[in-house]
Amino acid sequence: MYIAMVSAECAPVAKAGGLGDFIHGLARELALRGHQVEVLLPKYDSLRYDLIEDLSPVHKDLRVPYFDEIVPCQVDHGLVDGVDCLFIDPRSSHAFFERGRIYGEGDDDARFALFCRAVLEFLSQSGRRPDILHCHDWQTGLIPVLLWEVFDGLVQGPGMSSTRTVYTLHNLGHQGWVAEAVLRQVGLSPQRLITPDRLQDSGNLRGVNLMKGGIVFSNFVTTVSPRYAWEVQNTDQGMGLQGLLRQYDGKFAGVLNGIDDAVWNPLSDRHLAHSYGPETLPHKALNKTALRRRLGLQDSAKPILCVISRLDRQKGVDLIRHGIDHALYHECQVVVLGSAPEPSVAEAFRQIRERLGPSRDAHLELAYNEELSHQIYGGADMILIPSVYEPCGLTQLIAMKYGVVPIVRRVGGLADTVFDANYSERPFKERNGYTFDDLTVTAQDHAMDRAIGLWYQYPEYFRQLRVNGMVADHSWGVPAGRYLDIYHHLLP
Ligand code: ADP
Repeated sequence: MYIAMVSAECAPVAKAGGLGDFIHGLARELALRGHQVEVLLPKYDSLRYDLIEDLSPVHKDLRVPYFDEIVPCQVDHGLVDGVDCLFIDPRSSHAFFERGRIYGEGDDDARFALFCRAVLEFLSQSGRRPDILHCHDWQTGLIPVLLWEVFDGLVQGPGMSSTRTVYTLHNLGHQGWVAEAVLRQVGLSPQRLITPDRLQDSGNLRGVNLMKGGIVFSNFVTTVSPRYAWEVQNTDQGMGLQGLLRQYDGKFAGVLNGIDDAVWNPLSDRHLAHSYGPETLPHKALNKTALRRRLGLQDSAKPILCVISRLDRQKGVDLIRHGIDHALYHECQVVVLGSAPEPSVAEAFRQIRERLGPSRDAHLELAYNEELSHQIYGGADMILIPSVYEPCGLTQLIAMKYGVVPIVRRVGGLADTVFDANYSERPFKERNGYTFDDLTVTAQDHAMDRAIGLWYQYPEYFRQLRVNGMVADHSWGVPAGRYLDIYHHLLP
């Protein structure tokens, strides 16, 4: 099968969060199974060019409509960790992808709309006819719309009518709420499309909802865990799209994400001082020592509780701040690695860092640092994830693989993957962490106290919880099989 993935991110060259891991992991697994897979990305100036092999142009004179102008683009091919990637490079004074970062620009809507149109122009003009066009999140929501409205064969010669689209929702907190100009930019008709059954935003009747477009116009829609699929249809986690997702229930499913064994594996992780696995768990202690050295923490008989997260309100930043103090008070060391896009949140964490001073028990790194994240997973004992909502969450899966016991709020994918040591109805060998339901400090304190108490008083049980998490299979094998079932089901 020929599968084209279209996304704003792909790890490790363009990663802001779990979406990047997802694209890389699924694309690699599908390619290993013998399918032809290509990942289409914008050619950001911030790409990790050192990790792209054999970057060279494959299409030099792509002409992409932009309002009444044409933006000339070049498309380059390169290999990222064995995955074929195609990078769309607009040559224009707008410098669409020369901003030093992936997201967060005032014209993100225009940047990604141009990308969508360019992807389809490229596939069409280069004669590529993927069986499946798998698009992700609001940035690519226009692709199923454009495919149907412009590229299905009516306008563009032989057309692309045999291509089927799958659209994956990674986070309904970002739906691409934009103005109608974006439709005109890519050559679509606002009059035709801004209707309640198409792209009209339910909260702003003159506005456009790009994610809604992706849902309505694609052949199948997925989200990244079964529990989140239920939540977005039946609770306010749907953020206005509940009714639409119930309407399209027949083409909607939740598929739990995997993690890539080649990237996240303590037996082979090149960022770790010492490799270890379930059978050699004592070696994890050597990584704990190495982590303490790196961060200037003292050697002591205390557990390390970590947080590795975008410090976004979605992630429960108030509970994270409380959790830092609670853990320190209850004889833990604390390591936080987090990047905060919102200035007020960044400031709140800077204040905690100042208040704690040069502590030998706490380290707050307010940045994005891939290498350090591996070393923290390698050295930590517990991870705190008190998300307000969590479509899937990869940090708990990665943490468990590294023998780090998760303490999580029971929402979305966290509820599908973390089973409470005390209260779960599952057999003990499937229990792997601590969960709480209410978004309150009391509920979080209770879960943290149980985890910290077990570490101090029943180390053998704590070890068993670590092993339960480490041996569970969260590789891409099962989810890739589910996606292939969906793709096959759609083929003509
Ligand atoms: P989201 O996609 O919502 O940010 P996920 O849990 O799905 O959250 O994925 C987060 C991914 O990003 C994980 O691979 C995690 O290790 C990584 N990550 C998050 N914050 C940082 C950071 N500050 N530095 C390095 N890696 C980070």
